[in-house]
Amino acid sequence: MTTPVVLPKYSIGVGDRFAHQAKAQLQACILAADAGVEVIPVWNKSNREHMIIGSEPTKTRLAADAAVKELGWNKPYFLDADHINLKTVDRFVASCDFYTLDVADLIGKPASAADVEAFVKSHPKLQGEVQIPGLASPFHIDAAFVTSVANKYLAAVQDAGEIYKHIVEKKGAGNFVPEISMDETDSPQTPVELLIILAAIADTGVPIQTIAPKFTGRFNKGVDYVGDVAQFTVEFESDLAAIAFAIKQYGLPANLKLSVHSGSDKFSIYQPIHDAVRKFDAGVHVKTAGTTWLEEIIGLAEAGGDGLALAKEIYAEAFGHREELCAPYATVIDIDAAKLPSPAAVSKWTSEQFTSALRHDQKNPAYNSSLRQLLHVGFKVAAKMGPRYLDLLVANEDVVARNVTGNLFERHIKPIFLGK
Ligand SMILES: [Zn+2]
Repeated sequence: MTTPVVLPKYSIGVGDRFAHQAKAQLQACILAADAGVEVIPVWNKSNREHMIIGSEPTKTRLAADAAVKELGWNKPYFLDADHINLKTVDRFVASCDFYTLDVADLIGKPASAADVEAFVKSHPKLQGEVQIPGLASPFHIDAAFVTSVANKYLAAVQDAGEIYKHIVEKKGAGNFVPEISMDETDSPQTPVELLIILAAIADTGVPIQTIAPKFTGRFNKGVDYVGDVAQFTVEFESDLAAIAFAIKQYGLPANLKLSVHSGSDKFSIYQPIHDAVRKFDAGVHVKTAGTTWLEEIIGLAEAGGDGLALAKEIYAEAFGHREELCAPYATVIDIDAAKLPSPAAVSKWTSEQFTSALRHDQKNPAYNSSLRQLLHVGFKVAAKMGPRYLDLLVANEDVVARNVTGNLFERHIKPIFLGK
């Protein structure tokens, strides 16, 4: 048997909605390597994104492979079937080697009473005073609490086991990185819940390498974190400690790490993430997603001429269909309709005005987070334009790529992995 596929310590999830920016994204990882830190790219795309765009995972695979070859990247890289379940996994089997098993729908649906009881009984060490190395004070847990957590999460973990088994049948064990995600749900998981969940995952035999809990605070798409940064920091550090403890206690894979489904651009928590990861000598996977598409628009707007005209047209269309575009993302966006400029006003904008409103520079008084979020969910508009959009991306490749690489490296990789 060959050695199993192992996700290295630091990795970044990148989304490339139209499969045109793999090279520019990989370039950011090359800049990281040049700066002395290995950050492995993982191209992630969810079933929802594929459905909206009308694309197939094979296209993402081709784009990633071509970028890797062209830039001579000789480190690992992965393709993530993001947020899949038993119903949606099959189309990803040929192309992906990273699977985010999304079990959020089963959170809160109780497992069988017998299974819950058996779980609680088989983990006596989860009861009483549980001291986790690296944390100042112990957790006090009783049987009733373990039972309540099992009632909330055991069915979800069992579901992850089913999806995992299904993928193993198709791809063979050890040939892919399994992640379990619980982020797309209402209530965050506390560190002690995470510990209990990891015990249950170990029981199912899923060799998870990353786990994505829901953290405290709001992770809206493409804009900064909204929440209590100090509380997030405490929780994040406790999660790291709980994971390190669970690896030893339950024999989970040694490289198991947290996966932060960031929704991109959570600038105010990047420093705490960096510091905590260093403090605990832990790994981390940070998923970003749709902001590469926004950098494409910024690049086109910056290019002027046809590029700027198309960027304005996309805004006008997105504005006209804002309700329908926002609906699937209602829980992760916060648009103030009163702050959206009219398409007539935008049609008169210069390149500079357009990019200032869209580019995520909170210090720029012209930055408009409502416009940014609307365009963020508006990729369907560009998808419908098809070759009109894609041809302009190709024609303006240099200016688009500069924005894509710069955004990923300067605004994400540097603060998260280099601490700058
Ligand atoms: Zn997620």
